[in-house]
Amino acid sequence: MDAQGAPLMLSVSGARGIVGKTMTAEVAAAYGAAFGSFLRSTTGKARPRVVVGLDGRISGPPLAAAAIGGLTATGCDVIDIGVAMTPTVGVMIGHHRADGGLTVTASHNPIEWNGIKCLDGNGLAPPPAIAKEIVDRFRERRIDWCGPLQTGRVERDGGAARVHVDRVLANVDVASIRARTFTVVLDSVNGSGCTGGRMLLEELGCRVEHIFGEPTGIFGHVPEPLVENLVDLANATRNAKGAACGFAQDPDADRLAIVDEAGRFIGEECTLVLAALRMLQRTGGGALAANLSTSRMIDDVAARFSGSHVVRTAVGEANVVAGLRPANGILGGEGNGGVIFPPVCWVRDSLSAMALVLELLAHEGKTLSQLVAALPRYAMVKRKMELAAVGGMAAVAPALAKVKAAFANERVSDVDGVRIDFADGWVHLRASNTEPIVRVIAEAPDAARANALCDACARAAGI
Ligand code: MG
Repeated sequence: MDAQGAPLMLSVSGARGIVGKTMTAEVAAAYGAAFGSFLRSTTGKARPRVVVGLDGRISGPPLAAAAIGGLTATGCDVIDIGVAMTPTVGVMIGHHRADGGLTVTASHNPIEWNGIKCLDGNGLAPPPAIAKEIVDRFRERRIDWCGPLQTGRVERDGGAARVHVDRVLANVDVASIRARTFTVVLDSVNGSGCTGGRMLLEELGCRVEHIFGEPTGIFGHVPEPLVENLVDLANATRNAKGAACGFAQDPDADRLAIVDEAGRFIGEECTLVLAALRMLQRTGGGALAANLSTSRMIDDVAARFSGSHVVRTAVGEANVVAGLRPANGILGGEGNGGVIFPPVCWVRDSLSAMALVLELLAHEGKTLSQLVAALPRYAMVKRKMELAAVGGMAAVAPALAKVKAAFANERVSDVDGVRIDFADGWVHLRASNTEPIVRVIAEAPDAARANALCDACARAAGI
């Protein structure tokens, strides 16, 4: 869908739209008021406390101001932490004992976009049923405006990055990392990670070369941290004398991509695996959680530590956390570079990911490329099955059912779409919520086998 024609997207992740078209101050005010009304009715408190942050996009301040207006006009007290990483909002909810959080961000989307995400009182992305309740309130404008004497107050807290960084430092081996005085190149894409990212690395004794490190909100490159968007990071890391690695944050700094000491992109799937490896080493083993589309590398690494296992969940941060918490998991996340480190917060956090990768480098005494070479390597193939010509949305469920039936003799999971595990690989099919397509992800020892798995699914589905 082209950006200009995009509707306001409402989903379990919140609201997202095009600034000035579908994402306006009016939308933000109504969304804040809907969330405030929701909190008043569910907490039973007259004055729920809400932490509000924004990811530094230039369109953010009027939207955040409008959302704060909606929250205070429905009786919520607001702690305004200003430009902040999404995980920082999670940390500050606990710090201020707040009842929820709201952040103005469109994550890795280009600059035309902005959006609103809510977090609950534990700093968790709300589970789908709760997220839907908030969206429904907004859609139906079920808003309980308060009277004059109930109007909420706004207090400012400019120290959020410091609190977040300190929380990370309290949960990593600072002395070992500092002893190495690593040189690290950091690409913060001029987003919300600029201040906290640099602060963390300096506290860890790193020599930091910071590119796109000005929090102007004008992104220095296409913001999604994918190999094609990280050319400057690769060059800067290759050219920096003695660099240990390069890190790339997305604009709201919940995801982290990594290049090795030679500037080679190691693949976004490796971020979670390296962080998990360090936590397994540290604890001797434990439970991990990852979504069903995440590489099998994490299972292979967990298998090296007895008593360890990986809880596989539906796609989405809330689902990963829902698998991680009851298992008392040591680490969770997603293959897109999102690492959830429970002692810090229940939100994917680029700061925790950076610190754990540096701790791994410090303890192993090897280069990053050596560590990556020791990981099992797979080829991942991502495709779409187009169903527009064979019945549209109505064809999605029958297609998935046919694939499930065709592979009934294999290990099949229907937690989220259909995932089929083979001895040497897996394939995961998920329906899109908005278009008549099924996304197909396959992983195998080589690309030929991964493509063969996708082909077999397409044949089974009759497409
Ligand atoms: Mg993000």
